[in-house]
Amino acid sequence: GALEPIRTDSTFVADSGVDFLVRTVSSLQNKARAKRASGTRARRRPNPLLNYDEEMFVADISPTHRCLLNKYNVIDHHLLIVTRAFEDQRTLLTLADFEAACLCMAEFDGLAFYNGGRVAGASQRHKHLQMIPLPMARTGPRVPIDPLIESSPRTKRLFSLPQLPFIHAVAHLDGFSRVDAQQLPRRLLRLYRRMLRATGMNDRFDRSAPVWQSRPYNLLFTRQWMLLVPRSREFYRGISVNALGFAGALLVRDQRQLLCLRGVGPMAALLRTAVKRPAAKGLTVQ
Ligand code: AMP
Repeated sequence: GALEPIRTDSTFVADSGVDFLVRTVSSLQNKARAKRASGTRARRRPNPLLNYDEEMFVADISPTHRCLLNKYNVIDHHLLIVTRAFEDQRTLLTLADFEAACLCMAEFDGLAFYNGGRVAGASQRHKHLQMIPLPMARTGPRVPIDPLIESSPRTKRLFSLPQLPFIHAVAHLDGFSRVDAQQLPRRLLRLYRRMLRATGMNDRFDRSAPVWQSRPYNLLFTRQWMLLVPRSREFYRGISVNALGFAGALLVRDQRQLLCLRGVGPMAALLRTAVKRPAAKGLTVQ
């Protein structure tokens, strides 16, 4: 009873080879209640991911991270992977962040994601990765954009998907389970840094001090792939887009927003919140 889920109705909107999963908030009353509750709590607890609600506690993952439930969840079993001490969400991910995420990913098959800053969809300043179980919907692929990535050539290099009109970097993660569990977080960290460089973001990584992200971005990874998308705006016509949007899952407030999304097409909406890709230019492979 401590969770205050946001109830939604789901529908699919096909665009550019992706069946986008679009959820519409079905109970405004419920959302208003959740908002009120979060507002009250925000006044009482300025940082709910540090001074967290005991009922949200799931586990201590590592010496540096703990796992909490998302209190206002749209998706069941939505986890937050938070740093035990305050770190700013706009600092780059560290080895300790990937170690914590990999420990969770080894326990259950999920999608891990990161909203790098408010413009990328983050509502909390305290550093938090997030994870949801897969598949994302009862029908269709495990993640809506899976078919685009699966149909791309197997390569060890970074690549971009022709269907995505904005700057991004993708990589296959060849056999998550076959890689030595000790080595995996290091591999993911290296890949993440290559993606930052390849998309024109940070290219220097200090080992001793936190490094600020050079711009807002979303990072997503499953056991099969990793995707990074630099961001320019949080909203498209009042629709807030976070990392899940780039997995092919969008959340709208009402029928009006759903109609708007159907009209323009979800891919065009994503493009407006990301950075347009220069014509005929793929990714600089690193
Ligand atoms: P984001 O909005 O991507 O920064 O993710 C932060 C998440 O924290 C949001 O999805 C909120 O639903 C969730 N949240 C807000 N307040 C609390 C709380 N008191 N306990 C647990 N989760 C919370």
